[in-house]
Amino acid sequence: MRYSQYFIPTHKEVPSDAEVISHQLMIRSGMIRKLTSGIYTYLPTGLRSIRKVERIIREEMNRAGAIELLLSAVQPAELWQESGRWEFYGRELLRFKDRHNREACFGPTHEEVITDLVRREIHSYKQMPVNFYQIQTKFRDEIRPRFGIMRAREFIMKDAYSFDVDEAGANRSYEAMYEAYSRIFERCGLTFRAVEADTGTIGGSYSHEFMVLAETGEDEIVNCPECRYAANLERAEVLPPDPKTQAEAMPPLTQVATPDVKTVEEVTRFLSIQPSQLIKTLIYVKDEGETIGVLVRGDHELNEAKLRRVLGAQSVEMASAQVVEEVTGAPVGFAGPVDLDIRLVADHAVAGMRNFVTGGNRKDLHLRDVNLGRDFEVERFGDLRIITPQDPCPKCGSPIEFGRGIEVGHIFKLGTKYSQALNALFLNEEGKERPIIMGCYGIGVGRTVAAAVEQNHDHHGIIFPIPIAPFEVILLPLQIHHQKVMETAERLYRELTDKGVDVLLDDRDERAGVKFNDADLMGIPVRLTIGSRGVDQGEVEFKLRSESESVHIPIPDAASRVQEKVNDLYDSLK
Ligand code: ATP
Ligand code: MG
Repeated sequence: MRYSQYFIPTHKEVPSDAEVISHQLMIRSGMIRKLTSGIYTYLPTGLRSIRKVERIIREEMNRAGAIELLLSAVQPAELWQESGRWEFYGRELLRFKDRHNREACFGPTHEEVITDLVRREIHSYKQMPVNFYQIQTKFRDEIRPRFGIMRAREFIMKDAYSFDVDEAGANRSYEAMYEAYSRIFERCGLTFRAVEADTGTIGGSYSHEFMVLAETGEDEIVNCPECRYAANLERAEVLPPDPKTQAEAMPPLTQVATPDVKTVEEVTRFLSIQPSQLIKTLIYVKDEGETIGVLVRGDHELNEAKLRRVLGAQSVEMASAQVVEEVTGAPVGFAGPVDLDIRLVADHAVAGMRNFVTGGNRKDLHLRDVNLGRDFEVERFGDLRIITPQDPCPKCGSPIEFGRGIEVGHIFKLGTKYSQALNALFLNEEGKERPIIMGCYGIGVGRTVAAAVEQNHDHHGIIFPIPIAPFEVILLPLQIHHQKVMETAERLYRELTDKGVDVLLDDRDERAGVKFNDADLMGIPVRLTIGSRGVDQGEVEFKLRSESESVHIPIPDAASRVQEKVNDLYDSLK
């Protein structure tokens, strides 16, 4: 490609609404432009990177035996009513009516549509396993679109759906996608972790998120450098502590006046104790009905997802001030487990505690030297809290690391949720009718490019991993009016292009500084600079974007040396 005949509108200014570096750099390097909130145009170089990610995805999906098709973007409301998601999906679903007043939506995901296809076409165990995928534009009316194409409203997704006759088959399909995803993100040159995740709106029994590690990521993740266990903070398990061997003496329980002292901080300061000597009693409402007391140590945080799981609840919600007052007889801030007439559940850490402080269920009252068993009973202990940096790895006991990640892919074992709702049944070998077992698997294509930028940049611009860079090599002739310089540049351009290398020839009549800056901003991995002095000496300058050193190479060797280097860069990612 010749720069002068191409379209790369770079600029210096940092866009005012771009909070993260990838958004800033993708705008500045001329990859994307915003049309309106959460909706972007992919300019030519942005599209090149997108297409390269898509190509890697296609190759790996095909290798894993998945079959490409393309489903409609517009979906009839009836299908979503059948699955129950027309109500459930809420305002992220872009809904509209056609001229006949029929309701429809722009697909944010395609479980309903693919299940509809399969229930019409697949009736026998002989037609499975099968996995269909597509790469397509989705629309989700995100509440807070931000970070450019990382969290857009309109975005490109690869989604795949597997169909199996039994659990063992569904597990194999899941494993195959896990492997394919690992290869895809490796081939994109990204540093990532596959983390155990919660199943969210799509539902189902098991899932992993593929997280690109980056400080600005929206998700907090925990990972163990020792055994490579990784999980979402929400999901990470906490092991119960070792039971105490030596019990302390138990002085009698006493009341202490704590006027206007409510929060953990206030109570610990007032009583000169550590937060770990206090128990928080949180009042929760389960499934919009029963109130439940939840006990966690003062220095720990409750994890609502875990509470929901331990209680087997659909929903859990912090009780209102009014409900707290009805249940405890005291305003918020003084709840405690002693003589509290509701079910109590407690985090494992509470079991090992002795002589602790709790609220007294009366305004301005706390209790000291409270003890489990003697002063109150707990119905059930469980893993209820958010993991802390002090906790060991739940799998191998080593110290864990906290970090942040960008979710670029997500795989789910769906089970029969959609096949049952939509009646996608098949006849098994015994001729019995069974619901098909499904899995679904998504990758954010644009988000993958943005995440790569977020992970690979410096103060000059992007440092693209070669497989997803808009171009592999930039040829930078410094004086385009110098005949020998341009002849050399043109010859190298032809040679490299003939070798199948993806080259951008910067043939613009611009100052050297401008050309260098643009090349660095765009993040093209290999640069060859052709200057008049070098040409006279029979040399060109070779430099990698990721390194500060450059070397001079003889012109006759230049094309093959560049090709070798390009191949090395790809090989280093295998
Ligand atoms: P998130 O938690 O980030 O909203 P999600 O769980 O809603 O993601 P999925 O429904 O699993 O996402 O979609 C599959 C993939 O699509 C995600 O892993 C992500 O890479 C991508 N994706 C989801 N929402 C967006 C968005 N608003 N903009 C760009 N990519 C997105
Ligand atoms: Mg989402």
